[in-house]
Amino acid sequence: MERACRIGIIGGGPAGVMTAALLDKRFDITIFDTKTLLVTLLPTGGGKCNITNSETDYRSFAANYPRGGKFLYSALSRYSSVDIINYFDSIGVKTVVVENGKVFPEKMSAKFVRERMLAQIKHCNIEKTLVTDIQKVDNGFWVISGRSKYFFDKVVVASGGHCNFDFLKSLQVKIIPVKPSLTGLVTKTDYSSLSGVVLKNIYNEEIGEVGDMLFTHFGVSGPLIFKISSIKARDNYPYNLHFDLISDSIPSSKSFQQILDKNSKKELKNVLSLFLPRNFVNFFCREKGYSPDVPACSVNALVRDSIFNDLKNYEITVTEPKPDGETVMAGGVDLAFINSKSFEHKVVYGLYFAGEVLDIDGFCGGFNLQNCWSGAFAIAETINAG
Ligand SMILES: Cc1cc2nc3c(=O)[nH]c(=O)nc-3n(C[C@H](O)[C@H](O)[C@H](O)COP(=O)(O)OP(=O)(O)OC[C@H]3O[C@@H](n4cnc5c(N)ncnc54)[C@H](O)[C@@H]3O)c2cc1C
Repeated sequence: MERACRIGIIGGGPAGVMTAALLDKRFDITIFDTKTLLVTLLPTGGGKCNITNSETDYRSFAANYPRGGKFLYSALSRYSSVDIINYFDSIGVKTVVVENGKVFPEKMSAKFVRERMLAQIKHCNIEKTLVTDIQKVDNGFWVISGRSKYFFDKVVVASGGHCNFDFLKSLQVKIIPVKPSLTGLVTKTDYSSLSGVVLKNIYNEEIGEVGDMLFTHFGVSGPLIFKISSIKARDNYPYNLHFDLISDSIPSSKSFQQILDKNSKKELKNVLSLFLPRNFVNFFCREKGYSPDVPACSVNALVRDSIFNDLKNYEITVTEPKPDGETVMAGGVDLAFINSKSFEHKVVYGLYFAGEVLDIDGFCGGFNLQNCWSGAFAIAETINAG
């Protein structure tokens, strides 16, 4: 009898486990991980697991990846968010769509998603060990872990963005250096006294978007900052960011004058507090050298324009990403060497890559897990057909 094709999967995160689940049961599959399988799924979506996004057009979906979006066209068009929602439904995970198209399990539990996924791979062998090397030989691969050696016909690397890429050295896989993405940012100015204060609907010049920013003990965070950190993940630090803090409330210097006139007897800090959190107004006045207690009627045109310009063009110097604060890593296996249809290496046949180990990362909203699902499908479809 012909022996079953042996497939080794390095990494038992969402990408590795989904690949194992979608591969035909006729294969002899072994998953390697030092950790308990799918432990990295547990903190996703704050423990609720934002599985994917309800966006159905693959091009619009791909626009949510600052790196790797175009590469994903083929995989996303063949295995979309609709397909993964149907798949999860078929294994007992019903889903709901919440704000911004985010798709969550109805039970709002990453633990439940993990349990259902693990139930699909009971036929697989699990090796709780660190893979230290992979060697290509004529008819397959040796996967090395310390003194142990395992032979496979095909190998799928799904080791995530935080892995030590050294085990890929023998295969001479090109790696784009990894950088933290989707993270809070440490600032030159100490904002710790403002910790917890949120500026809503502010406009960031660098990425051309409106959003909310949260001050923290280390600097700044919140949805707008996460997106900035993602788009600028490969920039060198330090860098400056510019915000319009009054984009939806005070459009011009003239309208600012009208607001001052209407509130002429109020103190400057109270007028500004109509638009911005009081704590921030006090901080801002101190930082920029304005007297917060003067009546609005005493603010002359020079000071008015200066305040207006400082609020319209508020500069924050970012010194580094928040240490260990990243949600994903930008960088990883260079996509130039990967076939976008099969996710197979273009030079080392039989070697596949899925998930965050690739130089693909998306914004918040379920896009990073969808990268894992679509990549897993592309690989499984290719191997199943072989
Ligand atoms: C706090 C947090 C919340 C998140 N929330 C969401 C969300 O709601 N929605 C979303 O889409 N994305 C979310 N993400 C991102 C998402 O979790 C990742 O993109 C996803 O886990 C990547 O999956 P992966 O399988 O590629 O890699 P990983 O999940 O990193 O798994 C890789 C596995 O490989 C193992 N491994 C690595 N090297 C080796 C080796 N040499 N030998 C053996 N094993 C090895 C690791 O131990 C690990 O278990 C979140 C991330 C974080 C940190």
